[in-house]
Amino acid sequence: MTANDDLRTRYETAFMPNYGVPPLAIARGEGCQVWDADGDSYLDLIAGIAVSSLGHGHPALVEAVSAQVAGLAHTSNLFLHEPEVLLAEKLLELLDADARVFLANSGTEANEAALKLAIKYGRTNGRSYFVAAENGFHGRSMGALALTGKAAIRDPFGPYAIDVRFVPYGDAEALKAAVTEECAAVFLEPTQGEAGVVPPPEGYFAAAREICDATGALLVADEIQSAIGRTGAWFAFQQERGAAVPDILTLAKGLGGGLPIGACVAFGPHGSIFAKGDHGSTFGGNPVSAAAALAVLGTIEKEGLLDHVTAVGERLAAGIAALGHPLLEGSGVRGRGLWRALVLTADRAAAVETAARSAGFLVNALQPAAVRLAPPLILTRDQAQSFVDALPGILDAAAKEN
Ligand SMILES: *Cc1c(COP(=O)(O)O)cnc(C)c1O
Repeated sequence: MTANDDLRTRYETAFMPNYGVPPLAIARGEGCQVWDADGDSYLDLIAGIAVSSLGHGHPALVEAVSAQVAGLAHTSNLFLHEPEVLLAEKLLELLDADARVFLANSGTEANEAALKLAIKYGRTNGRSYFVAAENGFHGRSMGALALTGKAAIRDPFGPYAIDVRFVPYGDAEALKAAVTEECAAVFLEPTQGEAGVVPPPEGYFAAAREICDATGALLVADEIQSAIGRTGAWFAFQQERGAAVPDILTLAKGLGGGLPIGACVAFGPHGSIFAKGDHGSTFGGNPVSAAAALAVLGTIEKEGLLDHVTAVGERLAAGIAALGHPLLEGSGVRGRGLWRALVLTADRAAAVETAARSAGFLVNALQPAAVRLAPPLILTRDQAQSFVDALPGILDAAAKEN
């Protein structure tokens, strides 16, 4: 039995079946390359779901985390520490805004903090319901799940304690009709990630800002997947028309470069909604994760990765578009920067994922006809090209396989 199969068998016995059994045991990584338990190597084009921003084993991350864990790994929120202060200050500097930060351990927790802020805002102002988008994804806790517009994962665990009304994503008229002066907050992804890397029509986010301004509802941008350079900007909302700033912004995934950290940022007066005792987290903003996030942000700056992501992403998309393969719909690709979905003409995403793996590339079958690419931000032009070169063969194999 191979080392992969041995671990997979033991995993299946020891773990709950909620993830099924993943296809590979990954043993180590370096840059954009990973090796499985049997020593086979792959180009990592998914980065642990848009998380490993600096790839694997980046010296800046290794040094920051190693030094921090050796010096001080944990304080709890009974004490503060310099890395979390530096991180919050850095986020505010990047946002260039009057805002306040809460640090959590995950995206779900960042959204949970945003939801509690919005609930408190609503209670204070006579606002009782929330609006979110169909097919949106905000996490798996009972609060975040209540906001998640994907029936298959939401419905089995309802009913929910909060009233959430869902609107079709990208339809500004539907949003306008749903948001009244009784609405506490609108939760939106600037581009829907789990739904298939689906950007909204031009102007949608600006329209959402106007609708919230007109009614007094808070606009919450869930940038857990889209921020920290993923689209070639620090925050995806900055690329939308008018760069309308949300009232609350949530971050996680790429922020820690692989260490667990989430952030909820509230702008202007909303930064003071939580009073002492309203919210907390034992591990949130721990020194090691904060040091990791600082290393990620510092490296993106120092290595000019925002421009790099834009350039490599455009080249990747152009390369895919030029293939004109029958399994690719239209240009074959949507999204921005290094956050893309291959768009298929048939429900062959799972077969594409498998064929890509056999060819040495890790990608993710995100939807039946959409395959996600979210590589480390350090992906080189040559690495992107190697995938484009291999793609026709991968798609041929996927089209044939049953
Ligand atoms: C991944 C994701 C979440 C949940 O984050 P976790 O870290 O898995 O809890 C929430 N919202 C969006 C948009 C995401 O992509």
